[in-house]
Order: sequence, then structure tokens, then C-alpha cells
Amino acid sequence: MHELAITESVIDLINRESREKGFKKVLGISLRVGEYSGIIPECIKEFFPIAARDSIAQGAELEIISLPAAFRCMECGYEGAVSRKEACCPRCQSRGIRMISGREFYVDSLKVE
Ligand SMILES: [Zn+2]
Repeated sequence: MHELAITESVIDLINRESREKGFKKVLGISLRVGEYSGIIPECIKEFFPIAARDSIAQGAELEIISLPAAFRCMECGYEGAVSRKEACCPRCQSRGIRMISGREFYVDSLKVE
């Protein structure tokens, strides 16, 4: 039910925006979901029609774009992807890596009327 709550929070956010900006209908929503956000895009898609029912986002087209995670190596300064299985720097094999992106979850854009 995790994803249902998340999907509902997206609808809440859209409702707030609509009050602030005065739009009446949402035609399209574009979400960005980080690889390590713990959010499964397929579940969001599944719950969206339920969460959006009777809201201004009902019937809106939902686009979800996955963002790959990026890491920084504290040893050699490498920045980029790291294999989930190996969990070490691909350049120097250090385990001193820190995630710099990949936990994002946000509404990137709304198409409104
Ligand atoms: Zn390294």
C-alpha cells in the first residue's frame, strides 16, 4: 500500500497547485523516480486511476521517468553508475562510495487546462 499513499500524495500536491495557480483540469503528469527511491513505477501507474478518481487529475496521462542512480567515490573521485551487485567503485574498487543521486521522487511537469 506504500505506492498508493505516494500516489495520493502526488494528487494532494496537484490539488494544492491547482488552488494556487487556478487551473481546473490536469491533462498530463510527468514524474521522475530515482532508481533507489524505493518506488516502483508500475505500482504508481496501477494506483493512479484509483487515487485520481474524482480529482482534477482524473483521466490525466501519467508519464514516469526513471532516473539512474549516481555515486561518487571518496578515494579516486569517480562519479557515475555503480553496479548494484558489486557496490564498489568501478575504477578503483574502493567501497568508499556515496550516493549523490537516485532517491529522487518529484513531479517534473504538469500539463493543465
Ligand atoms: Zn574509486
